[in-house]
Amino acid sequence: MSSIRVRFAPSPTGFLHIGGARTALFNWLYARHTGGKFVLRIEDTDDARNSQEAVELILRGLSWLGLDWDEGPAPTPEDPYASKGDRGPYFQSRRTAIYQKYVEKLLSQDLAYEKEGAVRFRMTTDPVTVKDLVVGDVVREMPDREKADPDFVILRSDGKPVFHLVNVIDDLEMGITHVIRGEDHLSNTPKHLKLFEAFGVEPPKFAHIPLILNANGSKMSKRDDGASMLPYIDNAYSPEGVVNYLSLLGWSPKQDREIFTPQEIVELFDLPAIARSAARFDIDKLNWANTEHIKSMSSARLAELARPELEKQGAQLEGRSSEYIESALDTCREKIKNFSEIYSFAQAYFVDSVQIDPELKTQTFNADLKPILNALRQAIAEQDPFESGELAARVKSLTKELGVKMGKVMLPTRLALTGSKTGPDLYPLMVVLGREECLKRLDAALNWIDG
Ligand code: GLU
Repeated sequence: MSSIRVRFAPSPTGFLHIGGARTALFNWLYARHTGGKFVLRIEDTDDARNSQEAVELILRGLSWLGLDWDEGPAPTPEDPYASKGDRGPYFQSRRTAIYQKYVEKLLSQDLAYEKEGAVRFRMTTDPVTVKDLVVGDVVREMPDREKADPDFVILRSDGKPVFHLVNVIDDLEMGITHVIRGEDHLSNTPKHLKLFEAFGVEPPKFAHIPLILNANGSKMSKRDDGASMLPYIDNAYSPEGVVNYLSLLGWSPKQDREIFTPQEIVELFDLPAIARSAARFDIDKLNWANTEHIKSMSSARLAELARPELEKQGAQLEGRSSEYIESALDTCREKIKNFSEIYSFAQAYFVDSVQIDPELKTQTFNADLKPILNALRQAIAEQDPFESGELAARVKSLTKELGVKMGKVMLPTRLALTGSKTGPDLYPLMVVLGREECLKRLDAALNWIDG
């Protein structure tokens, strides 16, 4: 087993956003690629801005994406701070005593001192080199003491530890070997390196990943369109499609295709392949990746993702076999953008009797249609094998015999079978519904005519 340990360390200030999700994903991919461990640590030292609700939303977002963590929060109804793993607690708000010990150590070695009640760390004025696995060597010049005080607060006068301190102590205590985080933290890294040095330990390796920009090149903020993960979850996108898209934000598999399953990405992912330049968020590409996954996933997975939406919107699934549900959904997958659309598309499969708009009904189902529907009914009753290509040919020859246009048969048939002008392709739909059900629905429609 590999000794690699990476972590995602969100501050729970709101919902998981694209940037955070991408950082979590890259850490998870690296852990899974190397056989290492993925740790989730909640950086909740800022009482004023952090909330339990935000923690839940982060956990929900990660779980939805399929980014399982080996160590980290495992809340129960009794204990929202419960954790799994032997280096916890994994909530910084529960680690105060640990930080205190480290501060005392720094004070006793004169590596930190107190000023106006706050503890400050003695920062170097020499240049600091960050050896970054993505960005390369970054040399940071430090200002002269006369010009600016390089020392920084690590424990506030109210006793609260500061981000730099807790972030470093936890990476050290949790045995983190690689810090993969957003490039916005690169400016903090010299401070972190000096803290690791003061604690007498080797720092982890750093990999700062490029920022995500809006489509127009401006810096993406949490409030920008598309930035929150919530709409993708609420509209039931496919997690594998979103994971695929997020993985391409700054990483390239260097292949002539862009659609990969999460497992394929795990196999291909590596840190040197991360780009240095910023990535642009492109909602069209995300939608494309999502629909490509919906088209190509297994029927079982399609049904698994569609089921909650179908149930939520009132589909009658009880008593229907998983084989039926899967073949029904197979006929819809090419046409939907996400699973929140699936019920309106697939509903005809999951009703006991067809509902139709009364106006559409009287317009369409009139006496002229009767011979056509009767002929169709007979064709369906006789057609063997009951297979979509054969059905198509049969209906075509029927229109010739009757001397009517295709549309004259197709639209009323669709309305009789589904109640709607849109939906899955007609012949595959007939096959899934089965001969008996088609006949039942055509009989009902013939009754509409007789009214
Ligand atoms: N809590 C920090 C953040 O959310 C984590 C920084 C890091 O990954 O080191 O930005």
